Amino acid sequence: MQEQDHRKALLDPIFTIIANSAKELGMDTYVIGGFVRDYLMDRGTPKDIDVVAVGSGIELARKVASNLPGKPKISVFKNFGTAMINHTGLELEFVGARKESYHRDSRKPMVEDGTLEEDQKRRDFTINALALSLNKADYGILLDPFDGLGDLNRKLIRTPLEPNITYSDDPLRMMRAIRFATQLGFKIHNESLQAITENKQRIKIISKERIVDELHKILGSAKPSVGFALMHKTGLLPYILPELKALQGIEEIEGQRHKDNFWHTLEVVDNIAKTTENVWLRWAALLHDIGKAPTKRFHKKIGWTFHGHEFVGSKMVYTLFKRLHMPLNEKMKFVQKMVRMSSRPIILSEDFVTDSAVRRLIFDAGDHVEDLMTLCEADITTKNPRKQQKYKRNFKLVRQKIEEVEERDHIRNFQPPISGEEIMKTFNLKPSREIGILKEAIKEAILEGVIPNEYSAAQKYMLQKGDEMGLIAKI
Ligand code: ATP
Ligand code: MG
Repeated sequence: MQEQDHRKALLDPIFTIIANSAKELGMDTYVIGGFVRDYLMDRGTPKDIDVVAVGSGIELARKVASNLPGKPKISVFKNFGTAMINHTGLELEFVGARKESYHRDSRKPMVEDGTLEEDQKRRDFTINALALSLNKADYGILLDPFDGLGDLNRKLIRTPLEPNITYSDDPLRMMRAIRFATQLGFKIHNESLQAITENKQRIKIISKERIVDELHKILGSAKPSVGFALMHKTGLLPYILPELKALQGIEEIEGQRHKDNFWHTLEVVDNIAKTTENVWLRWAALLHDIGKAPTKRFHKKIGWTFHGHEFVGSKMVYTLFKRLHMPLNEKMKFVQKMVRMSSRPIILSEDFVTDSAVRRLIFDAGDHVEDLMTLCEADITTKNPRKQQKYKRNFKLVRQKIEEVEERDHIRNFQPPISGEEIMKTFNLKPSREIGILKEAIKEAILEGVIPNEYSAAQKYMLQKGDEMGLIAKI
């Protein structure tokens, strides 16, 4: 990692094309940022490549596009002075080297043309300011004015300039620092941590969408708790996810304590990150207990309770998604459903499990029954190894039971065996509430195990129920 010649980072023919295009225009040009960092860290195939030109980035992008086979389209963002080319799934982003100065009320800087080094200074972190030369004289040489390479080795997030200015200029960088620390398993430099703490309220000027992007990346990491713990430590958490902040703390009344639901939640999120890549299921883990803050009560006889926290929590999911401008679509409904149902398998695992309870769980969870079990298993955070074993074993039994019952009764994606139309024909009915009542009765009988989930049994049951209701079947 120490050698200065990194030509082997530039083996992709695209770099020759960029270098030649820049040469034609007489511009110096460099690869910079994430690509260089990830190459030095050996982080696998890149998704995007940032190129900085000492000159016009847009002009360079045009030249590169004209030199590429198929002459791909370029997207120009004139206001930002950038241009993008999608090259075989790889995003190439071109920008002219620039110097930035900021106004206090906005993260939109005043921009002037600048040198490479001035451009590196405006970058957020030393590890993101690393550049590789694409110029003939020193092709493949690493340009590292702030010892970003040293910080990569030290696993350190540090700003090129004074941290207070860096974070105040663009407060999104506070979330980026925390996100990179989480993704890369790095520490944030002390002065940075302090500057983030001091500037935390400036996060208010950042758009919700940008913040959510970072939250997604934190949640997508191998150990998301790192990010949320840092948000807590720096005081950013209440500005972004006050519902989580409200879970923090332990109260004691008459010698009775409840657990700290914030730190518990972080453990759950880390657990689930080991078993699923589904970021929405990870969101569900993060939010599964948020209803516990508003429902917390103390009763002299039974101690602490959180009655109905699952239902309250699922309503809070909507408010939270809305506040953060997240999509209010089926993803949100999924998270709500997971939160609402988050205690159901626990009840099953504690008692003797009846088939009908399992059928109801499958019926209510539908296609998400496995996800729900994954969430519940992640929810086991007891430090008592005996209890942990017991809970895991119980959930395994519930999973088995779900499989058995589903194989026999096909409750998942339940389709009523008797249609409304058939009920109407049978009893010569116009659309009326009797039809709904009969359909519900048949469904209930199946879930309760009174009849099997089969057509002939359901038809017989319908005739019998109809008779009880005083309906007359046509023969
Ligand atoms: P990843 O693509 O994995 O998120 P990245 O470092 O490539 O990581 P991008 O958001 O793609 O991040 O940004 C590309 C580069 O632009 C960064 O490496 C950094 O040099 C610079 N950069 C991005 N956002 C900022 C910012 N808010 N302030 C300063 N520099 C930034
Ligand atoms: Mg990038």
